[in-house]
Amino acid sequence: MSISLTAGQRAQLESELALRRRALEQQLAEHLHGQSRADRAHDVLTQDGDDAPQRLPEREIAAALTDHERRELDAVVAAQQRLERGDYGTCADCGTDIPFDRLRAEPWALRCVDCASAHERGAALRMP
Ligand SMILES: [Zn+2]
Repeated sequence: MSISLTAGQRAQLESELALRRRALEQQLAEHLHGQSRADRAHDVLTQDGDDAPQRLPEREIAAALTDHERRELDAVVAAQQRLERGDYGTCADCGTDIPFDRLRAEPWALRCVDCASAHERGAALRMP
């Protein structure tokens, strides 16, 4: 059962998601492009030898950013699918309605605030 968003609220969230998706797709393309540029720079530097290790963190940051954006993009796309299916706005863990204020701040939110923080704590505990 979907929460009762007004048509206006739903339209607002839909356009937020569409905007976010476009921005992420653009950022992702830029980072992938930047990363391949860094790879080429790295190749040039390794021919010289000693400077190469300094290129590494930059590439790792680019890779991590790309990873983060890809995950966020997945979340945005999943939210758009939930909107289409009609099960958007209910917490994935406890099934409670996610308040519109939270959805407005984070339209791709999958969990209510309580479950999201419990989930994050759980993820942090599983960290090595
Ligand atoms: Zn919940």
